[in-house]
Amino acid sequence: MHERILSQHECRAVVVTCIDFRFAGARTSLAIEKAYGLHENEYDVIVLPGGAQNLTQFQLTAEYKGATRHALGIAIDLHNVRLVIVLSHQNCGALKAIGKAFSHEEADVEKEFHRILLLEAAGVVRGEWPRLAIEAGYLYVEESQQIVTIEKIS
Ligand SMILES: [Zn+2]
Repeated sequence: MHERILSQHECRAVVVTCIDFRFAGARTSLAIEKAYGLHENEYDVIVLPGGAQNLTQFQLTAEYKGATRHALGIAIDLHNVRLVIVLSHQNCGALKAIGKAFSHEEADVEKEFHRILLLEAAGVVRGEWPRLAIEAGYLYVEESQQIVTIEKIS
C-alpha cells in the first residue's frame, strides 16, 4: 500500500488557500469534496495567509504573490495537475491586514468583494496556464448548520 501511494506522481488538482485554521483541515476537505468532487488525497495544497488573494492586486506582499505562482508552477509541472482551484474565505485576517475589513452585517458586501478578488485570481492563473481548468470558490460558514461551505464563483 505504501509503495503504491509513493508511485503515484500525478494528482488531479492544486488548491490555493489561506492558513486560517477555521477554514483548513477536515471540515474544508469535506467542503472541497462536496463542491468539486475531489478527495483530499487527489490534490496538492498551497497555503499562505490570504490564499487566492495573493494572486491579485490585494496581495499581502509581493513575496507571497511570487511564491504562490512559483508553487503553482511546481505543482502543475511535477504532478501534471489539470485543475487549479483558488479559494478565499469569509472573515480573512489577510484582507483585514490590507484594510479590507467587513462586519458581520456586511456579509453580502464581503462576499461580493471576494467574488471580484477570486475572478481576478482565476484570470491571473488563466493568463499563465491557459490550458488548465480553473475553479474559484468562497469558503464561508453556513450559519444554520455551522459547517464550512464553498460557494463556487464564476
Ligand atoms: Zn485567511
